[in-house]
Amino acid sequence: MADLHPILRELPAVDRLLKEPALGELLERLPRRLVLAAAQETLQSYRQKIYASSKTGQPVTGLDLSPAVLAREAAALALSQSTPSLRPVINATGVVLHTNLGRAPLAAAAAEAVAGIMEHYCNLEIDLEEGVRSSRQAHLEGLLCDLTGAEAAVVVNNNAAAVFLLLNSCATGKEVIVSRGQLVEIGGSFRLPEVMAASGARLVEVGTTNKTYIRDYEMAISDDTVALMKVHPSNYHLVGFTTSVETADLASLAHDRNLLAIEDLGSGLLFDLTRYGLPPEPRVQNSIAAGIDLVAFSGDKLLGGPQAGIIVGRHELIQRIRSNQLARMLRVDKLTVAALEATLRLYLEEEKALQEIPVWRALTMPLSQLLERVETLAVLLQDYFGKEGVILWEGSSRVGGGSLPTAELPTVLLSLQVPHLESSELARRLRCGDPPVMVRLQQERLLLDLRTVNPEQDGLLLKAILAAVGMDGPEK
Ligand SMILES: *Cc1c(COP(=O)(O)O)cnc(C)c1O
Repeated sequence: MADLHPILRELPAVDRLLKEPALGELLERLPRRLVLAAAQETLQSYRQKIYASSKTGQPVTGLDLSPAVLAREAAALALSQSTPSLRPVINATGVVLHTNLGRAPLAAAAAEAVAGIMEHYCNLEIDLEEGVRSSRQAHLEGLLCDLTGAEAAVVVNNNAAAVFLLLNSCATGKEVIVSRGQLVEIGGSFRLPEVMAASGARLVEVGTTNKTYIRDYEMAISDDTVALMKVHPSNYHLVGFTTSVETADLASLAHDRNLLAIEDLGSGLLFDLTRYGLPPEPRVQNSIAAGIDLVAFSGDKLLGGPQAGIIVGRHELIQRIRSNQLARMLRVDKLTVAALEATLRLYLEEEKALQEIPVWRALTMPLSQLLERVETLAVLLQDYFGKEGVILWEGSSRVGGGSLPTAELPTVLLSLQVPHLESSELARRLRCGDPPVMVRLQQERLLLDLRTVNPEQDGLLLKAILAAVGMDGPEK
């Protein structure tokens, strides 16, 4: 083993590094502990390099240990560590509701509402008129009832919590009957049988995977039954030889037998999707109209709002849910209330909701508009990568987020190939850029789908692509 002491002694001390201009400048704008840690980490990595190469028995050569070089490396590290961990990303995957990318981006009105509330005190639980304590739910309940036709509403942290709270409030120690075709698992380990067990309710399965009839529910009703439950199989689709029970029939059987009819609807859809060329999907107001007593759904799926779980339904049942101790633990914070109220207000005018809620803008963006945007981008990119590097393809976007699994939204994909650069490496560089860009990789091809890119960010996307291959964008 080579003698390491002389070369280790060549490494500058931390204090010496901090005096270098590259780090001195950073010390003025970043927290000292962050810069110091980066300098120490850099020195440590050099020590390790020296040890590693000494193990090979070779003399340590080719390492520039000058303070200026090490300081520049430490500065780059400090800068990268000072970037916020949670950042905005350009989603060019074409998956509209991408749970790993934060599901629904908020409408501008919702973001403004959050910003307006954040820095100030607010009337979260005060009735301004009467000057007395009120409920945070009061800001949302009226809108939710208006939009869904329900008598009352309560909002919690997410739909998993909503389903759990609903069952815990209305069915502990009792039986709840569910079709075997609806025992869903949603990503992130939401499995209905397990949620039900945790809530204290007892699951009674009826029917088969593909066929469940009303008589199956009827025969399973016992003295211990408290509810018939419908679960929307939001992330899969049964096709072929299948039968399920109509919502209204399930509700009337429940009511004939003095039971509750409850539903986990998954996505909180309020629009008729078929008008926009999408497959039919159950709407909240239809379930209420069909007689369901309690309906639970998400705030950040097809509703296009913040993460939240919404329960709408009969007044006395909602009161029971609100007075459950667990409701306090699962309650929404004021930022969610602000974002959800603003999102729901957009729904008062369908046109407005379609234009201003990003999820709806993406889902209903006409192919002609997508084509125009993608052609503009393609022409600009061809200046850099040639005609053969930039090709347009027909393809489809996906709804994602466990919603509308069979929906195929026709789209135009831009395939980008950069000479001497593997698609996976280009994708990695785009991911690590600023802003990060997420793309689709399909059969070694890098594909961009502009459906999920905010049209105002098309220029930013171009810049990010050029930066990823070390080119500067156009001046504008
Ligand atoms: C998505 C989904 C859930 C979970 O909702 P979160 O808001 O993600 O907690 C529960 N049930 C169904 C049917 C779903 O589709």
